[in-house]
Amino acid sequence: MTNAKMPTAGTSILFGGDYNPEQWPRQTWDEDMRLLKEAHVNSVTLNVFSWALLQPGQPDEDTYDFTMLDDIVDTVTKAGLTIVMATSTGALPAWMTLKHPDINRVDFQGRRHRHGGRHNACPSSPTYRKFAPKLAGLIAKRYAHLDNLVCWHISNEMSGYCYCDNCAAAFRVWLQSRYKTIEALNQAWTTNFWGHTYHSFEEIFPPNELGDAVDENRSLLPALTLNYRRFMSDAMRGVYKLEADAVRKYDAETPVTTNFMLDFKDFDYFEWGKDLDVVSWDCYPSYDTAPSAIAMWHDLMRGLKGAPFMLMEQTPSRANWQPFNSLKRPGQMRAQSFQAMAHGADTIQFFQMRRSQAGCEKFHGAIIENDGTSNTRVFRETAQLGAELGGLGTQIEGSNLAARVAIVFDWQSWWGMLGSVGPSVSLDYLTEVNRYYAELYRRHIPVDMVRKTADLSGYAAVLAPCLYMVDEATAANLRSYVRGGGRLLATTMSSITNEDDVCHLGGAPSPLRDIFGVWAEETDAVAPDVSVPLEFAGAGADRAASGSILCDVLQVDSDTRVLATYGGQDYYAGAPAVTEHDFGEGRGYYVATMPDTAAIASVIDRLVEGLSASELGEASDVTVTDGLEVTTRVAGDGTRYTFVIDLAGKGGEVRLAAPRTDLLTGREVGGGAESTLTLERFGVVILK
Ligand SMILES: [Zn+2]
Repeated sequence: MTNAKMPTAGTSILFGGDYNPEQWPRQTWDEDMRLLKEAHVNSVTLNVFSWALLQPGQPDEDTYDFTMLDDIVDTVTKAGLTIVMATSTGALPAWMTLKHPDINRVDFQGRRHRHGGRHNACPSSPTYRKFAPKLAGLIAKRYAHLDNLVCWHISNEMSGYCYCDNCAAAFRVWLQSRYKTIEALNQAWTTNFWGHTYHSFEEIFPPNELGDAVDENRSLLPALTLNYRRFMSDAMRGVYKLEADAVRKYDAETPVTTNFMLDFKDFDYFEWGKDLDVVSWDCYPSYDTAPSAIAMWHDLMRGLKGAPFMLMEQTPSRANWQPFNSLKRPGQMRAQSFQAMAHGADTIQFFQMRRSQAGCEKFHGAIIENDGTSNTRVFRETAQLGAELGGLGTQIEGSNLAARVAIVFDWQSWWGMLGSVGPSVSLDYLTEVNRYYAELYRRHIPVDMVRKTADLSGYAAVLAPCLYMVDEATAANLRSYVRGGGRLLATTMSSITNEDDVCHLGGAPSPLRDIFGVWAEETDAVAPDVSVPLEFAGAGADRAASGSILCDVLQVDSDTRVLATYGGQDYYAGAPAVTEHDFGEGRGYYVATMPDTAAIASVIDRLVEGLSASELGEASDVTVTDGLEVTTRVAGDGTRYTFVIDLAGKGGEVRLAAPRTDLLTGREVGGGAESTLTLERFGVVILK
């Protein structure tokens, strides 16, 4: 059922998270253990930022000191906790940055950094590539034998780029491997533009402020920035692999991961997912992040391996680094935890177990606050959740979502559009993808987030908003999907360029034009805060709908059906804005603008027209008040776990067509007299 290796705490899923006792006097540790057990915590993540303690640089750089980590490991082992062991390479020792300056990154402005910050080692630094895997290997050698060691955690929230000379040299090697000859690179990048023709790979430098770049996202030759992103994603992944291989020398079995992040653009996580035994990620929504945006990223994390994932971090109460670090309201952390589980999380972990007394995270929430007691709301809510998860055991673990609708997500297209100078600064890839996801979410239609070369044949409908970059393999994949009977939705800014950001000839969305029966002759950037009315024919004609940001002016084939036209007074009023076209056994839908919620509803109505609830993967025996989330995980034996969650904090009602068991209370609900359940504010039921 799953190709991920999921750590567990025996009869329970992992519940716990980051524990940093290095920051506290030794005498608090035993009390911490007592309190964590009281909160039903069964796992701690250790050693995330201890490199400077483990390798003090004295009397020589090959001296290591595991005294404190041994003590921490003994303490949590005696308390019966499982361990997620980090390799500690997320922050560099100060001595190392002085003695070996190559380990420090050079930034986009060309400045070599000094010690400070974290997650800032150069991936091409010989020093880093020597010492990081060495430390990972020493830690693995020392602790791999522990029975309670359940997961390896490489570095932490790996991120960012370096622009140093070592990276420039490695970039040239990477380019040579990709393009073979400088002539092939010149041709692929169209370097004759503005006299950028290269005569050797030595002439190519990273796109920093001293060179070709307009800013960190864009260069005069967009293929340069695009390929530097690919290179950096590969280079950082290479460092991950060095550490993972070092761990593997001493431990062939325990899953290895590194923690990913929300809305993260630096690396292509689909590529990274191949090298992780299990995907894990840190979920830090802001007070105003829509529940659908969180759900979408959970689904994307599940999509990286098509398998359940670890929720490695979330805050039990508040973050500290956001502009407004609002508290999670009573019940909200529990609701968000079950939302993660509903979308595939098979662990619930936090940052952190005990609050930092000092440092920039002293305002970040924790299970044990500075009062050092269990007498807080956050502690009580954590303990309640821990007890509930303990009651559930591992029965839901390994089950997956049975989605019949997919959204194509593509870091390459994200990078390509970010790198484009024009057509509108209002264009934002995540916003455009979520625009469609949110409507499917509102309808309780489960969604798989997939890469553009994924096997799509099992999906009733596939949406590919702003799939800007379409190479030959992607075009073939999408064509074969629609030809075989699939329904494919594309939008403006789709299929504009090939993999080197060179525009396809023949008019966008070439080479997919014949699927949609349209091409975009012109694309207008709409002024900010202006919308263009959309007039739907048939279903949706009564809804006031509009588009914004971009408006393609389409030419349509004679057999293309126009579902909506532009209204208003502009010269393209009356021109097609939403179309439908038969191709093979399937259909292509094209949306020429950024539709508002009413327009999206009409578009999705047409896209799923004639498909039953079961063909769309919906839980047809559960109906709920608007605003509640309904998500179903299906086990290998067909057992269905339907999560109904109030994430908006408004409560609601759940109506059941047949009796189910609420796993959180053990009660049979639905059927007979009790066919309607009332969900309290931030309430959750899990129906089996
Ligand atoms: Zn570098």
